[in-house]
Amino acid sequence: MDKLTSILEAFDVICPSGLRGNFEARKGILDELNSLSNIETEFNAFLLSDFRERAGLFSSTGNDVPLEVTGSVLIIGAGLAGLYSALKIASLGFEVQVVTDDEHVGGTWYRNDYPGSRVDISRAVYPFSDVDYCDWRNYYPRHSEMKKYCEELASRVGDQKIFLNKRVEKIEWSGQRSGWLVDFLKDGQKEQAFFNFVMDCTGQLSSPRKLPQADGFSGEICSAPSWPAGMDLRGKKVALVGLAASGIQIASAISGDVSELHIVSGTPNWIRMIPHLKLGDGMDKFSHGQYAFDLKARAQAAIGGFQALVKENSTAQAELLNACENWLEQLPEDKADLVRPDYRPGLRRILLDNGDYADCLKQQNVFYHATRLESCDNRTLYLKSGELVPDVDVLILSTGFDVLSSHFPYRVVDRTGLERIEKPVTGFGSVCFEALPNFFQINGYGTNLVLHGAATILMEIQTAFSAARMLEACHTNGSGSVFEISSGAVDDYRLDFKAMHDSLIWSEAPEKQGWYWGISRENPTNLPMTMGRYIEMLKGLNTSP
Ligand SMILES: Cc1cc2nc3c(=O)[nH]c(=O)nc-3n(C[C@H](O)[C@H](O)[C@H](O)COP(=O)(O)OP(=O)(O)OC[C@H]3O[C@@H](n4cnc5c(N)ncnc54)[C@H](O)[C@@H]3O)c2cc1C
Repeated sequence: MDKLTSILEAFDVICPSGLRGNFEARKGILDELNSLSNIETEFNAFLLSDFRERAGLFSSTGNDVPLEVTGSVLIIGAGLAGLYSALKIASLGFEVQVVTDDEHVGGTWYRNDYPGSRVDISRAVYPFSDVDYCDWRNYYPRHSEMKKYCEELASRVGDQKIFLNKRVEKIEWSGQRSGWLVDFLKDGQKEQAFFNFVMDCTGQLSSPRKLPQADGFSGEICSAPSWPAGMDLRGKKVALVGLAASGIQIASAISGDVSELHIVSGTPNWIRMIPHLKLGDGMDKFSHGQYAFDLKARAQAAIGGFQALVKENSTAQAELLNACENWLEQLPEDKADLVRPDYRPGLRRILLDNGDYADCLKQQNVFYHATRLESCDNRTLYLKSGELVPDVDVLILSTGFDVLSSHFPYRVVDRTGLERIEKPVTGFGSVCFEALPNFFQINGYGTNLVLHGAATILMEIQTAFSAARMLEACHTNGSGSVFEISSGAVDDYRLDFKAMHDSLIWSEAPEKQGWYWGISRENPTNLPMTMGRYIEMLKGLNTSP
């Protein structure tokens, strides 16, 4: 049985409602739940402590966090990472400013307003563990709910601290002033300001990957992050190219409306079944802020699934294969054969389906082409298999994002005066980098998500780690303080990162393509360790002079 489902059931038995804020009760429940499975102690401790303590967890000054801090922090990006960091860093006393080049807060959850857009893990896992909010309507929160969640976070940060339509063009280290000189573009006007610290929260899923093969198409083209408002697909013949996580959501949402849906996907993904819970199902059980469950589920999600990627762990791999085969068994044999990948699960990203996509594939008007798009001419699609798909009204590109490019989305001049184009691959914990003092990256290259339950878990850990470095800098030097990671710490981290990466089966991916490798295909993009291990490594940083 799915681990999450078994925890859910266990929780139903032992967890009374209304535990919000009751630390002892939550802890008691966690202890009980812990006896059901082996959760990493560090990770639980991390989730249970409040943010101030968490920041202390990663600080060489322990919990001796200065009460008075001085310093301004620029947070670039107003997605979940930027908003969460702003909330937490401001709560420690820093002066915070958040900027986004969008016209609204939310980042990913503002832009990706396509049919079926939602989180594909449960609402118990995705929201931040220490932000008190429970206004969820769906087990897998939909785009509108996520957008509202981001707006709520933004209102807690405070409107006066958030600047929309303001793009960071360049950051340049000033040794004289011990901070960053930042060039902005707002409403066509250039502005400049100084900040002690910069946090990069620019996300990974902002630029849709281009598909030159679609250039000759004369019908309507749309993609997940730029879905045309009011688009009506009823009765239309639609082709969907590429099948990333958003692709299966779009297909499931539109297949009942369109006259024909042609899915074109060259390399199928393995897909795992997740509980088929919909609006209302069991929601009353979650609606009382049953935080203990949330924490437990998050911890479980952060660790579960990962073991199947460890090369020697053949038992976990067999379980994973079994879970993926179970999903395929729902389909008629001919369809299952078409979508069955010819590689081991884990070499590429595994998608999650609550049953909607399996139902979609079973429909008579849905055609699956296990091949690539070669070109388009007028409204005809030419496929690599030699097939043609004529008279297509709308072409949907679900070909993913140029996510995994490691370029900075603005110009960076580092401490040595060098202009940096590429983000360093790992840095230390992928959070801080040599020659970039007082600079922190949240949720960036080298800590890609998905395997670890939720991107939000990483955001929490990395924000606490960054906060600790800022606090330490203030603690030791007051204003004018500087933190820069040592090259020794970066080298050690890189070695460990590489060793752990090599111990996982994704390092054997034949073409080094997809989510785990990024577009450069040179550097692994995912975090090759459990969250517990990651926390240990961050905590192990020795910052004493
Ligand atoms: C449909 C969909 C479903 C998803 N589901 C899940 C899921 O189930 N679980 C999961 O863990 N993750 C999921 N994700 C991944 C999701 O992207 C992350 O979980 C998270 O929302 C990323 O937040 P972020 O703040 O890091 O980045 P983003 O939300 O991308 O925010 C980046 C911000 O940076 C700003 N920015 C960029 N460059 C500049 C600049 N030069 N100047 C100023 N501002 C700039 C942007 O305007 C934006 O505000 C999903 C993503 C999508 C698209």
